[in-house]
Amino acid sequence: MTLPARVTVYEVGPRDGLQNEAGAVPTEVKAELVERLLDAGLPVVEATSFVHPRWVPQLADAADLLTMLAERIGDRVRDLPVLVPNDRGLDRALELGCRHVAIFGSATESFAQRNLNRSLDEQFAMFEPTVRRARDAGLRVRAYLSMCFGDPWEGEVPVEQVVAVGRRLLDLGAEQLSLGDTIGVGTVGQVGPLVAAFEAAGVPVERLAMHFHDTYGQALANTYAALQAGVTTFDASAGGLGGCPYARSATGNLATEDLLWMLRGLGIETGVDLDAVVGTSAWLARHLGRPSPSAVVRALATGAS
Ligand code: MG
Repeated sequence: MTLPARVTVYEVGPRDGLQNEAGAVPTEVKAELVERLLDAGLPVVEATSFVHPRWVPQLADAADLLTMLAERIGDRVRDLPVLVPNDRGLDRALELGCRHVAIFGSATESFAQRNLNRSLDEQFAMFEPTVRRARDAGLRVRAYLSMCFGDPWEGEVPVEQVVAVGRRLLDLGAEQLSLGDTIGVGTVGQVGPLVAAFEAAGVPVERLAMHFHDTYGQALANTYAALQAGVTTFDASAGGLGGCPYARSATGNLATEDLLWMLRGLGIETGVDLDAVVGTSAWLARHLGRPSPSAVVRALATGAS
């Protein structure tokens, strides 16, 4: 089995991580976090979300953050992906000149109802104008698909259902589909068949990304299975941000450092400086007032910042 020679690490810590942290992080700290992650060589850093502050108060400073980042990194800020939940979110992203947005869909009826307040089918009616307008404006669009490996209300999610919903998001105009194991219950045996089912439905593996959570300690095993299936884009969160064991919303994002350690061992290139990411996570942990849940950060961090 040949593994990919190179992998793209899609960093979600500033958005997916911080939105699930219990405490609010000052905007200046977020700006420094994003800049440090870029400096470490991460090719994609999702910066924030234009979700309504009522739902995610942790990211209420999205516009201020992008403005502050523009002062630090100039025009590069426009290429940082931002999550847009709907048309209003896209309006805000367009006002700030963003060139890369992400939408967040559900593979299951239960999660669509709870997270989007819509049925599985109704979510497409919400996304359709958002994606169309984004594409018409020349933006790149990524689609997240949550609950692809299991759902807390429905249990196992049929592969055909995941593929059908994922296909519809791609057909709307998304260029990449990130398959999320939102509650971290997926195991190795599910990964290859899911990728194969997408390929059988006409979706090339190059358009798929994997978004694993380590809630049940399966994230790296699942990553290896996805590498074997030819996947070359993996989402990860610096220091395992969002995996706060004390927060009720703990999600257990795969730590970027854990991913990088395994990829380095496999000789797979990422262009990312692992030590620089570890240093960044150690620095951020002091701002959060708790240690990183990442095993690799704990092993490598020396207190340097
Ligand atoms: Mg996540």
